[in-house]
Amino acid sequence: MSIKNARVAVITGASSGIGAATARALVAEGYQVALLARRADRIEALAAELGEGALAVQADVTDRDSLLAAAQQIARELGPADVLVNNAGIMLLGPFSSDQREDYRRMIESNLLGTITTTEVFLDQLKDGGGDIVNISSVAGRTARAGNGVYAATKWGLNGWSESLRQEVLPDVRVTLIEPGVVDTELPGHITHDATRDAVQQMYDVARVSPAEVAEIIAFVLARPRHLVINEVLLRPADQL
Ligand code: NDP
Repeated sequence: MSIKNARVAVITGASSGIGAATARALVAEGYQVALLARRADRIEALAAELGEGALAVQADVTDRDSLLAAAQQIARELGPADVLVNNAGIMLLGPFSSDQREDYRRMIESNLLGTITTTEVFLDQLKDGGGDIVNISSVAGRTARAGNGVYAATKWGLNGWSESLRQEVLPDVRVTLIEPGVVDTELPGHITHDATRDAVQQMYDVARVSPAEVAEIIAFVLARPRHLVINEVLLRPADQL
């Protein structure tokens, strides 16, 4: 299963959107990839498409035990992780209300605590030989708008934590923050507030930035020589405010 001398990239949320596109881009660059997500059928199909050196590992970033098991399996089958792409996330937008309180808990547990826990679990592997962490934040990590408060809070939190981590782990591990605007993925489909989902879906239906375009940026960042780090990338569709 393991490809000799190929770097190992662990990608959370690899079952769709930006995570799946990142897996494709990194395999094209010669990486081995560990595909983490909850939907086993999706990551198994992607692993089959990508072929040798792609490993599907069912894991939930809100469940530390599943991440520990994933880290052990990856080290055993592919080798220790060199790259961690913290991409798993949910965007459950809507007006601030007690009706949405379960959404708030889920977003904080997945987007913020899930990313922190995944990093804590894989950090020893990443430190062993020069690693990279790519944290997928958002334009919402810089700009809060009515109706996105808790999602924005998770991404603002991610930005602050990511910068602190960057300073702690350099130069052994490089940390990069990616902040996309609207990208054409399944992200809005999970919104529980019906009117908000319909409105946001309309915006995504005409989205022109593809997950592959974000993945290309991630692959470019990772390909820089070790003495150079791209700390942060903010990108938007040309017509997004
Ligand atoms: P998708 O909905 O297509 O992908 C989200 C991924 O996260 C899925 O693979 C999903 O897999 C995974 N995921 C969600 N919760 C968990 C969990 N608890 N454990 C493991 N995996 C989980 O959306 P995107 O590709 O757009 O989203 C990827 C990241 O990009 C997110 O962090 C999002 O906030 C960020 N982003 C997206 C933008 C956009 O416009 N699309 C803009 C800015 C940032 P599964 O359900 O199988 O577990």
